[in-house]
Amino acid sequence: MSLSLLTIAYLTAGVLFILSLGGLSTQETSRRGNIYGIVGMTIAVVATALHPSVEAYVLMILTLVGGGMIGATLAARVEMTAMPQLVAALHSFVGLAAVLVGISTYLAPGDLTGTSHIVHAIEIYLDVAIGAITFTGSVIAWAKLDGRLSGKPMLLPGRHWLNLLIVLSIIGIGVAFTGSEGTTGLLLLILMVNIASVLGVHMVMAIGGADMPVVVSLLNSYSGWTAAAAGFMLSNDLLIVTGALVGSSGAILSYIMCKAMNRSIWNVVFGGFGTGEGTPAPQIEGSQGEWIPIETDEVAELARDAKEIIIVPGYGMAVAQAQRVVEEFTRMMRKQGKRVRFGIHPVAGRLPGHMNVLLAEAGVPYDIVLEMDELNEDFPTTDLVLIIGANDIVNPGALTDPSSPIYGMPVLEVWKAGTTIVLKRGRGVGYAGIQNPLFFKENTRMYFGDARDSMQDLVAALRTG
Ligand code: NDP
Repeated sequence: MSLSLLTIAYLTAGVLFILSLGGLSTQETSRRGNIYGIVGMTIAVVATALHPSVEAYVLMILTLVGGGMIGATLAARVEMTAMPQLVAALHSFVGLAAVLVGISTYLAPGDLTGTSHIVHAIEIYLDVAIGAITFTGSVIAWAKLDGRLSGKPMLLPGRHWLNLLIVLSIIGIGVAFTGSEGTTGLLLLILMVNIASVLGVHMVMAIGGADMPVVVSLLNSYSGWTAAAAGFMLSNDLLIVTGALVGSSGAILSYIMCKAMNRSIWNVVFGGFGTGEGTPAPQIEGSQGEWIPIETDEVAELARDAKEIIIVPGYGMAVAQAQRVVEEFTRMMRKQGKRVRFGIHPVAGRLPGHMNVLLAEAGVPYDIVLEMDELNEDFPTTDLVLIIGANDIVNPGALTDPSSPIYGMPVLEVWKAGTTIVLKRGRGVGYAGIQNPLFFKENTRMYFGDARDSMQDLVAALRTG
């Protein structure tokens, strides 16, 4: 393929990636966005394979087929609830690839001298440094999200100074690296990889469980920047564009999530926030009141009487895979002329957009799925709220209890509705591991059981009743 054709192919792929991101921003256009992305990536892979400098076709086909098969199997097998871990693991591969490509680029024979040599050395160094931080940070994020490491932040004394020291040493080694060649340069590069890897571990270890959603999108952003740095290093325009798109969209998403959780991005990045360093919130049930259980028939009666219903789904809906029966309930209620809407918290579930994906999959109409800000004011005029496996996102303590680890996070103010029914299996806590005063409120009823079973019972009772 000639170089001008290659440029056109890269440009087309770049435009398709931008259209893809635009499409993914709303549910109605997300399928189209996905298709743009797939077409763009196919063009990019084919064009790169036909690049005049590519010769190792056998190796490339083997890795493409092998990697593709592993990726397809993992994607087909993964439970929706394990998606965050998978995403974190995939980010770690981007980081590792950047480190390996950077080191091999350094080892490849080159004839650059003077300023060009320094610029190229900086490109390699940046690529490898961000790659190493992304790699180890993502491995730790994977282990935390997968429950292999505790979600508690590891708060070393003087941790901010330690971070500063590491960053300064990375810069110092970088200055020496740009003026070095051969084995000395390689040794400096490897030294930096080790130090940057420690930084990746330390930064993510210091982040508390409640802030993990931001970490996932932040690591997504890092993986983009490392790809962009690789693009400069390899003089590959498409990699620069794609990396910058991923880097900036990940950064924007992190900012949006921080805003949603009322966290400062710097607090999250520099760690130690997210599991509360203050006095722990009261955990003793008796001190807060009683949980009032409710039976299916009573829930059905409340549903029959209600005119305005809001459903708040959370992580438990994903665990129970209750979305289809929730959709059935919604259809049933709407047929009876009731207004049913869904309230989605920005960090509901375990992945940005987790609930929207499940509801879309079940066929819930997009126009009744609203964001927290769009209906928080409507709870006082709502007759019935059904909370399907949500906990932290409806915790009033986030607004009233300064000692709570999630204090300051805006929540869905469900307790202002006529009656609030909470579907959960037992007395389990949510992701932040704290008690929820909502469960003890006078107008709250606890509908115990697996969310799918409970919703099936409710739909059956409404049918027969
Ligand atoms: P939570 O994790 O706070 O609560 C989930 C609730 O679901 C629990 O109370 C649990 O109680 C219940 N549950 C679990 N399984 C079932 C089941 N089969 N049937 C019925 N109920 C069930 O979820 P939320 O969605 O309210 O909040 C999300 C939390 O996750 C936030 O703290 C957020 O910061 C965090 N997070 C979010 C990410 C994101 O990107 N969205 C990423 C990482 C973390 P019980 O065991 O008693 O049934």
